[in-house]
Amino acid sequence: THFGFRDVRVEDKQKLVGEVFSSVARKYDLMNDLMSLGIHRVWKRYFVATSQVRPGDRVLDLAGGTGDIAALLRDRVGPSGSVVLGDINGAMLRVGRDRMIDRGRVAGFEYVQCNAEKLPFPDASFDLITIAFGLRNVTDKDAALREMERVLKVGGQVRVLEFSEVKAEWFKPVYDFHSFNVLPRLGQLFAGDAGSYQYLAESIRKHPPQDELRAMMEAAGFARCSYKNLSTGIVAVHTGYKV
Ligand code: SAM
Repeated sequence: THFGFRDVRVEDKQKLVGEVFSSVARKYDLMNDLMSLGIHRVWKRYFVATSQVRPGDRVLDLAGGTGDIAALLRDRVGPSGSVVLGDINGAMLRVGRDRMIDRGRVAGFEYVQCNAEKLPFPDASFDLITIAFGLRNVTDKDAALREMERVLKVGGQVRVLEFSEVKAEWFKPVYDFHSFNVLPRLGQLFAGDAGSYQYLAESIRKHPPQDELRAMMEAAGFARCSYKNLSTGIVAVHTGYKV
């Protein structure tokens, strides 16, 4: 399959994203390590370590996939806290749940299949909301950000970890080569699926860069919005608050 999203109507995007993640779910963790040379683990640890998560918090990890962020958060909310792993894709959630159970991690997790654009939670439900490498895949990002604002408690923090715009000029050709040559080949070789990784590279290029995403978060109602580039902007961590 070819996922050239430029040729695709908006209403078809949701279905295609579903197909992409169902087809990669089982190979997802291996592919992350291969594609990023393991660096995604460092980004994720930084993302959680610098969040305002506290013991006892109720946390939502949206587009949580196979649960990397949720597992890190779980360690920080302690026995009195809880983590909800929300994802639109049942296959990703199942892989995530099985991984947690394999590691003996059962208590304090909930798994909720949901669309970020329309969250099945009451207003002011969470102390912290995280979304890592997920917002890029959401069709109506503004709606998703507004929903996050709605279900966040006053004083709560939202954190977005996402691919962004590379800032170092020297690195751009290397990054382009990696995205458009190495990635689809790795996808073909290890997952038997070049199309999904072609989609990945395209979705990264189309995602709003740092300042644009910050403006979108402000428009959704978040206060004190800021971001920090990691690895020269390959990814950025965006933070906002509900006041
Ligand atoms: N957060 C995990 C991580 O960092 O490893 C998973 C990231 S994975 C690249 C993106 C996830 O977003 C997939 O599991 C996909 O099912 C989910 N997703 C895509 N669109 C979504 C939506 N509209 N609502 C909720 N989750 C969505």
